Amino acid sequence: LPQRYAGAEPSVWNEYIQMAIDYKPLNLGQGFPDYPPPQYIMDTLGQVATKSDPILHQYTRGFGHPRLVRALSKLYSKLVGRQINERTEIVTTSGAYEALFSAISGHTDVGDEVIVIEPFFDCYEPMIKYAGGTPKFIPLRLKEVAERLPTSADWVLDKKELENLFNEKTKIIILNTPNNPLGKVFSMEELTHIADLCKKWNVLCISDEVYEWLVYKPHKHIRIATLPGMWERTITIGSAGKTFSVTGWKVGWAYCPANLMKNLQMVHQNSVYTGVTPIQESVAIAFEKEMERLDSEECFFNSLSKELEAKRDYMAKVLVDVGMRPTVPDGGYFMIADWSPLESKVDLTAEKDKYKDYRFTKWMSKKVGLQGIPPTVFYSTANKHLVENYVRYCFIKKDETLQEAEEILQRWK
Ligand code: PMP
Ligand code: GLN
Repeated sequence: LPQRYAGAEPSVWNEYIQMAIDYKPLNLGQGFPDYPPPQYIMDTLGQVATKSDPILHQYTRGFGHPRLVRALSKLYSKLVGRQINERTEIVTTSGAYEALFSAISGHTDVGDEVIVIEPFFDCYEPMIKYAGGTPKFIPLRLKEVAERLPTSADWVLDKKELENLFNEKTKIIILNTPNNPLGKVFSMEELTHIADLCKKWNVLCISDEVYEWLVYKPHKHIRIATLPGMWERTITIGSAGKTFSVTGWKVGWAYCPANLMKNLQMVHQNSVYTGVTPIQESVAIAFEKEMERLDSEECFFNSLSKELEAKRDYMAKVLVDVGMRPTVPDGGYFMIADWSPLESKVDLTAEKDKYKDYRFTKWMSKKVGLQGIPPTVFYSTANKHLVENYVRYCFIKKDETLQEAEEILQRWK
C-alpha cells in the first residue's frame, strides 16, 4: 500500500452493512430511507430510461449534464442571491462524496492544515491525508442542560479554541450544516464567527450542506456562502441522494466561484470524468418540478422535513422511555443518544473492539437485533472518548419500522 494510504481499514459503512446482511438486525444504521421516494421521481427515471433519444444513454458533458447544471444554477442563484454560472461555477459529481474529494484534493497542498469540526462525516479525515494535508480537529461540546433534553444547539464550539486553531498554515475549514451525526444547524452567530476567521486568515470554507432541506422549525438553514465576503471563499456541496431521498442514485454537486471551481473540475476530469447521464437527466427534471412549487407545502423540500419532524419526536420519546438520553436534532435524519444509563444490560465483553460504542452497537446488532452506528467514527483519535457512551440512530424510516425499534428496545431494557 502506498505510504499515503497507510492504516486504511474498511470504514464503518462497509463493516456495518456486512453485519446487517449477516445478522439481519432492524437497521437504523447507515442513513437512507426504508420507503420509496415520491412516485414522480421513480416515474421520471423510468421515462428517461425508456426514451430512445441516444443523447440520454451516452456520455454527457464532463463537468455536469447540461440540463442538470442549468437547473442547479437556477435554484442556487436564487438561494444564494447571485447569478451562478452553470458552466464555470458548478460541477456535478458521483454523490457528495466525490464533490468532497474534488474540493479537498483540488485545494489541499502538502503541509496545509485543514480545520475539521467534530463530529465530522468520517471521510473528511482520510481525504485530507491523501491530499498531503494535516487535519486539525475541534470538537463541539455539550453544554450542561438541566430539566430538559439536550438539543443539537447545545453542542457548541469554544470560540477561543477555534481562534487558536487558525494560523498561516491553515488552508481550509470544513463545515457541515446541518451536521451528521448531531443534526446541529449552525446559527447566524456561529457562522459569522467562522466567516470572520476565514476572512482574517484568508482561509477557504468547504461547506457540506447535503442536509440543507432537512431542518426543523424554528431553525433555518443558512448558507455560509451568503455571508458578506464569503462567496469568494466558499465551496458548497449538495447531494441528490439526500435532497430527493434517492441515496442510491449517487449524484452530488459543488458550486463556487470559477477560480476555485477550476481545481475541482480538474480533479473530477482526471478521475471520474463524467457522471451517469440518465440519472442526471432525472435529477434535473425533479429539480425543475420542485422549483415550480418551491414555496408550497407540496414541494418535497418542505414536505419531507415536516414528515421527518414527527419521526424525530417519536424516536426521541422511544429512546427516553427506554432510559437513554438523546440529543434532539434540529436538522438531518440522525439522532445520537447516551446509552450509559443502560450499561448494566449490555455485555461489553462480547466484542473485542477498542471503543465502547463499537462493542455496544455490535452486541446490539447481533444479540438484541437493532443496528445503530458507533459515533466515535465521527471523531479524531484524541477525542473519541467524548462519545464512547453514545449511539447514532437513523430515523428516516417507516413508522412501522420505528415502532418495531421501540418494541425491540422495550423487550431488551
Ligand atoms: N456528507 C455528509 C455529511 C453525509 O452524511 C453524506 C452521506 N450521504 C455525504 C456527504 C455523502 O453523500 P452522497 O451519498 O451524495 O455521496
Ligand atoms: N451519510 C450516510 C450516513 O451517515 C451514509 C454514509 C455512507 O454510506 N458512507 O449514514
